[in-house]
Amino acid sequence: MKNLILKHFYKLIGDTQKDHIRVLIFHDIEKENFNKFEILLNSILKNCNVISPEEFKMSINGKYRKKNDKKKILITFDDGYKSQKKITEKYLNPLNIKALFFLVSEFVNCTSKEDAHNFVRNNFYKEKYMYNLDNNLENMNIEDINFLINSGHTLGAHTKTHPQLSKIKNKKELISQIIDCKKNLEDLSNKIKINDFAYTFGDFDSINKSALSCISENYTYIYSGLRGNNLDIKKNIVRRDAVNLWEPLEVINCYLNGYLDFVYKRKINTLEKWI
Ligand SMILES: [Zn+2]
Repeated sequence: MKNLILKHFYKLIGDTQKDHIRVLIFHDIEKENFNKFEILLNSILKNCNVISPEEFKMSINGKYRKKNDKKKILITFDDGYKSQKKITEKYLNPLNIKALFFLVSEFVNCTSKEDAHNFVRNNFYKEKYMYNLDNNLENMNIEDINFLINSGHTLGAHTKTHPQLSKIKNKKELISQIIDCKKNLEDLSNKIKINDFAYTFGDFDSINKSALSCISENYTYIYSGLRGNNLDIKKNIVRRDAVNLWEPLEVINCYLNGYLDFVYKRKINTLEKWI
């Protein structure tokens, strides 16, 4: 129903002329959705500038302006699924598009498909996931991550085991989830430094003041899952748009034009007051 309304809304209103810096979140991309990713990417390339993590950081600090007034889009991937490496190899690398990958450091260590499926069931949902998982689902291993590093992509941290940070009572555990992820990832390669952290689940209820302060003490940029425009943001709390490939392009275009941003505005203001 929501999608139907948005679809009609977009057909009626179309694109806004407003300047936007938007960040997209992708999760696991099933093989049968690879062509949908390609269609979405082509549509984005037609209407927007896809920027690298480095250009994104210059943009939000006002240091990077492109001549045309197209929307700027950064692509991010959460959790560290093998499908994300395949998508990168197939679609992003040939176009020289650089993305940001938020990894769960212990997920990298899964050594079999069964291991990876158990990890996903136990950790990637707020409650244990009892339904079928995509049979091809696997984690990225160290080799895959080196592939990303060597092709110029950026890695970010997404905790050690993907808990809901707002629910952790033990301070030591909270700190370990936030900091050890960075240490573990930096140990994988001497070529990388981790400055970006995406908090798990991304919604307002999954973060609180003490978790946010700890993140801001250890990372330069904090990525949420709250929708919004990143033009001239003040506290480096990045707004992101989760994208599901089964959603019609018109609905995704509503996100990219900020038509739903009003829903998240107060929540983001609260996060900014916490740090
Ligand atoms: Zn996640």
